Amino acid sequence: MKWKFVLKIADLLRWIWKDEIVFDENGMQWVLELDGIDDRSVLIKLLDFKTESAETCDRCGKQFKRLVKIPEYIAKYTLDKTEFEESTEDVVFMIDSKNETIDVEELLYQASHLDDPFVIKCPDCEKSDENNIENNDDFDTL
Ligand SMILES: [Zn+2]
Repeated sequence: MKWKFVLKIADLLRWIWKDEIVFDENGMQWVLELDGIDDRSVLIKLLDFKTESAETCDRCGKQFKRLVKIPEYIAKYTLDKTEFEESTEDVVFMIDSKNETIDVEELLYQASHLDDPFVIKCPDCEKSDENNIENNDDFDTL
């Protein structure tokens, strides 16, 4: 999956400013709330992020599309390199200071991998697993 979303945020840095962007295209949906918190950083709230992720089943090798849903993901974009490097708890990205833009692509990319399953299974393998678990349960109660 390849995205190209670069936002101009000069206004957000110059004034205390809020903005909202709604995106719905090619099976991908999200809402971005942008909040210029000071002249060095912008807080970004990604809401209702839905997309399809192309996956390969770990078990049978089949290719399938998995629906990814992230209700909320918050990140900060900053001009401050130290903050970017030293932040441990928050998700922090750099603002492109030359162009005064932020790369939303990296935010979407990270968010879309938030709830990646440990083992990727296609719906068929998922289903056969569920059946097996049910069968095992029956066996246990006998
Ligand atoms: Zn499979």
